Amino acid sequence: MQMEKTRLRIAVQKKGRLADETFALLKATGLTIKENKGGLFYRIKNLPIDLLLVRDDDIPGFVFDGVADLGIVGANVYEEYALNNNNQRRAQCIQELGFSHCNLCLALPNTEGYADLNDFNNKTIATSYPNILQTYFKKGGISASTLEMHGSVEVAPKLGIADAICDIVSSGATLEANGLQNVKTIFSSQALLLKTTKALSTEKKDTITKLLSRFEGVRQSKETKYIMMNAPRSALPALTKLLPGAEAPTVMHLEGQKDSIAIHAVCRESVFWETMESLKTAGASSILVLPIEKMLA
Ligand code: ATP
Ligand code: ZN
Repeated sequence: MQMEKTRLRIAVQKKGRLADETFALLKATGLTIKENKGGLFYRIKNLPIDLLLVRDDDIPGFVFDGVADLGIVGANVYEEYALNNNNQRRAQCIQELGFSHCNLCLALPNTEGYADLNDFNNKTIATSYPNILQTYFKKGGISASTLEMHGSVEVAPKLGIADAICDIVSSGATLEANGLQNVKTIFSSQALLLKTTKALSTEKKDTITKLLSRFEGVRQSKETKYIMMNAPRSALPALTKLLPGAEAPTVMHLEGQKDSIAIHAVCRESVFWETMESLKTAGASSILVLPIEKMLA
């Protein structure tokens, strides 16, 4: 295939659980996607980029071979592909993208007890991730067989072809519906940005730099929050310490209340429920956390 010299090519999942969030990120990054119904490529109108639409399993190999310059894929698929090729075909991972979080877990039928990992010795485990699983077992000194399956892995114990499974779990509903219990997380995954190790033109390198800085902007504005609360004046030093990633907060007096103040601050890190509970314990009340749409420092 003739490689385009100036237009950056990014391999993305065509359809599926990664695709929606991948397109959402690219749109938030300001890319105008010109859809080509049924096509292999989408063209980006406002930057020299083409999206190559493929199955997620093909992305690590396409990026390694330079068929695509960048790729967005789950860490589970990236790792399995690299291990399956004895680490000889590992594209460079340049960023964790913070979406499509899921875990690869070992699960047993509800009817089985579980003490520790040794329970898997001499068992057969159905999985789409035999290399990640065997690498994990090797580290733990476990000897077990894997049965490679692609799709409907959770039915294997019911069919009597495996004792346990190792599969992607997010809510646990599929496990529950199949009478399985999650006993151990062996790998935590999220979407990754991959880059080819092949040489790139200056034009493509410049586009990557621009794209990475926009990804960073999207990430920051997602995490940054505006937080407001009321509190007794005496609680101010303790509350200031608790505000995550905040500069000096704005302090205002509350009309008709001598000892109470309002505190406003921009937090550059995630504000979790735990943080809000700690603020409340330290004396804050009426705590509000608001999203920030755009920021210019
Ligand atoms: P394809 O047709 O592209 O091969 P697929 O059936 O292999 O698709 P999907 O089910 O769309 O794959 O999942 C793609 C990736 O999304 C997974 O490999 C994983 O990284 C991530 N993922 C899986 N389940 C979830 C989930 N419940 N929530 C978020 N991300 C998930
Ligand atoms: Zn797939």
